[in-house]
Parts: sequence; structure tokens; C-alpha cells
Amino acid sequence: MDNVIIIRYCELFLKGKNRGYFEKIFANNIEKALKNTQHTLKHISGRYILEDFNQADTENILSTLKKVFGIHTLSVARRVKTSLENIIDCAKETAKSSGTFKVETNRADKTFQINSMEVNKEVGYQLLKAYPNLKVDVHNPDFIVNIDIRENGTTLIFSDFVKGAGGMPVGTSGKGLLLLSGGIDSPVAGHMLAKRGMTVDALHFHSYPYTNLQAKEKVLDLAKVLSQYTCGIRLNVVSVTHIQEAIHKNCNGDYMVTLLRRFMMRIAQKICERHGYQAIITGESLGQVASQTVEGMTSSGQVIDVLPILRPLVGFDKNEIIERAVDMGSFDISIKPFEDCCTVFLPRFPVIKPKLADVKAEEDKLDVDGLVAEALKSIELIEL
Ligand code: ATP
Ligand code: MG
Repeated sequence: MDNVIIIRYCELFLKGKNRGYFEKIFANNIEKALKNTQHTLKHISGRYILEDFNQADTENILSTLKKVFGIHTLSVARRVKTSLENIIDCAKETAKSSGTFKVETNRADKTFQINSMEVNKEVGYQLLKAYPNLKVDVHNPDFIVNIDIRENGTTLIFSDFVKGAGGMPVGTSGKGLLLLSGGIDSPVAGHMLAKRGMTVDALHFHSYPYTNLQAKEKVLDLAKVLSQYTCGIRLNVVSVTHIQEAIHKNCNGDYMVTLLRRFMMRIAQKICERHGYQAIITGESLGQVASQTVEGMTSSGQVIDVLPILRPLVGFDKNEIIERAVDMGSFDISIKPFEDCCTVFLPRFPVIKPKLADVKAEEDKLDVDGLVAEALKSIELIEL
């Protein structure tokens, strides 16, 4: 006997002629997630079977697979050589010793001596004999013993269903560039778009030496957490030090954050054009902080020509975002203290509802194109 893992995908996105395309990406994502673990992945009617892995790795593999979008449920199944005796022994190991149950058999191997109804009856009878505190309830059982008699001479027996991450396989909904800070929100925003099938890479701005190197390490750690859901991630790190110095020197300081946001968007847009990203993703949530007003979003969005700016958290409360951050495993990293470039040269009275004309008047005091070009030269690309 050995263990295999049954991987079931969400059926919804598989309708129609794209099925093969989706399945290929889905299987590739699983392979990528398990690239450091020995295993074989097989496709059988409507699900995947993971086998030939080291049994001691089972829990690790499960926790890795729980982060792969597109997986609906997972079951660890015992696999035996097909014989009624083996099936009964294994069903006894799988069943609980009390409560209500039923047996459900699927007989793909039509040469097996008895049909599925008869297997249900015989195994049910043997379980009742072995565990006097068990009772059959075919309508609303506490657990089901599933028996899958396969055509290749093996039988899979399992009871538990582990919930998968759901969503769509990453790589089936275009490519987006996430503005990733060291805060709580942006990793969650990236996670949400990846769940919709978007390939997500990241862009982080720092203003070293005003922000320290730990701030960058922290963002790397966050990107690593996110990369478990995004099948790897490319992290672009860009310095905005000179941009902030130029704003500080030449403009009304109250516009620091407003102007910096516009530079961030311009730089993001250039990177999108170079690498074919189709959207910019941010962790903004309406009204959460002074800079996240609809006027602020208008001002930063105005420098973007065509690309959509996706703000999946726009209508979320902080508590809802924190819950998601805890679930995805980024929260503990995000709450470590760090300095974000947005807190450098922070004015005492930042403009909360910037008027476009005023913003542009301040911006006219700067060599915008030159500063953007210089920042783009500072890109450091880290593959995770
Ligand atoms: P977060 O928790 O994501 O940092 P926040 O509530 O602190 O969000 P802001 O600091 O106003 O909000 O930032 C809003 C959004 O702008 C962030 O969610 C992120 O997408 C982007 N952003 C802010 N700072 C940076 C940075 N240093 N590098 C890249 N993107 C940033
Ligand atoms: Mg922040």
C-alpha cells in the first residue's frame, strides 16, 4: 500500500474548447510548485493523481498544493493492488470507528469480479462488523468511504476532502505588475489577482539611503510568500531617491506623496510596456489613509494612458484585508517595522484632495522625463 494525492480542479473555467489549454497551464503550475519534490503527476478523467512521492513528504506536498490556484479539493488516498481482501482491509484503515457512514464505489475496471453496488454492500458489512459503533446512513453520513477501482489493477480508497485555494490557474488571465510596498495591503492585492488567474510580477520603490536595507529585505520576504501563489515572481526594485530629492528641492512639499505617486505610475507604465504587462495592480483602499482619496486616484491614474489600474481592495475594510493577509501568510512579515519611501520627506499637511491643475503646476517645476529615465536605469531584477 502507498499514498497518492487526488487533485480535483474547479470545473467552472474548463467549459468549452479552451479545456486543453487550461489543463496544460494548470498541470504546469503544479509541476512548478513541486519542482523540488520527487513525484509523478498523471491526468485521469477529470482529475489529477500525484504519485511516486516520498510518503514522508505528504504533509509538505499538501501544504504546497493548497497554494496552487485552480485546485478545488485534494484527497490523500490509500492505493492498494486490486482485490476484495485488500479493499476491505484498507477501508477499515480509512474509516472512523464510530458515527454514520456510507460506502461509494466507482468501478472503472469492469473486469473486477463484483459490481460497485456489491462492493458497497460487502465493504459496508465488513466495516459494521469491525466497528460496532458505526451505523450506515446513505442520505447524510458523517463520512464516506470512497473506493475507486482503477483500470490499471490498483484501487484508491479515501475519505477526507481538503479544501484547495480555488480560483483560476495563474497564467490564464493575462499579466499584471503589482506595486509592492512593505505594507499589509499590496501583497493581498497581488494574491487576489493571481487567484483570478493573472500572472503577477512586482515592482518595489525604495529611497535608499533614506530608507534602509532592511526595508528591501522585508519586501523580498513578502515577494517570496506571494511567489508561492503566483508560480514564481519577478521583483523589480527601483530607486526613487533622486525623484524625492528633486520634489523636496523644487516643489511645494505638501505635494510630495501626490507627485511621487505619479512618478511611480509612470515608471510602472514604462516597465509594463517593456515586458508586456497588461495592468498595474495596487493595494489602495478608498479612504483608508489620507492619500487614498478618489481625487488622489484620479491624480495618479491620469498619467497612465491605456493600461487599467486594478485596485482589488478598493472597497475593503482594513480588518478584511488583515484577515486575508493572515490567511495567505504575509501578515507577520508586513507588520515588522520598516520605512517606506512614502514616509520620507513626509509633509506635515499632505494634500488630501489634489486638484489636477495644481498638481501639474508643481510637476512643471521638474524634469519629469529625465527623472523617470534615470530611475529606470536603476532597476534591479530579482527572480523568485
Ligand atoms: P500597503 O499596505 O500596500 O503599503 P498602504 O495602506 O500603506 O498600502 P499606501 O502607502 O498609501 O497604502 O500605498 C498605496 C499603494 O501604493 C500600495 O498598496 C502599493 O500598491 C503602492 N505603493 C506604496 N508604496 C510603495 C512602494 N514603496 N513600492 C511600490 N509600491 C508602493
Ligand atoms: Mg504602505
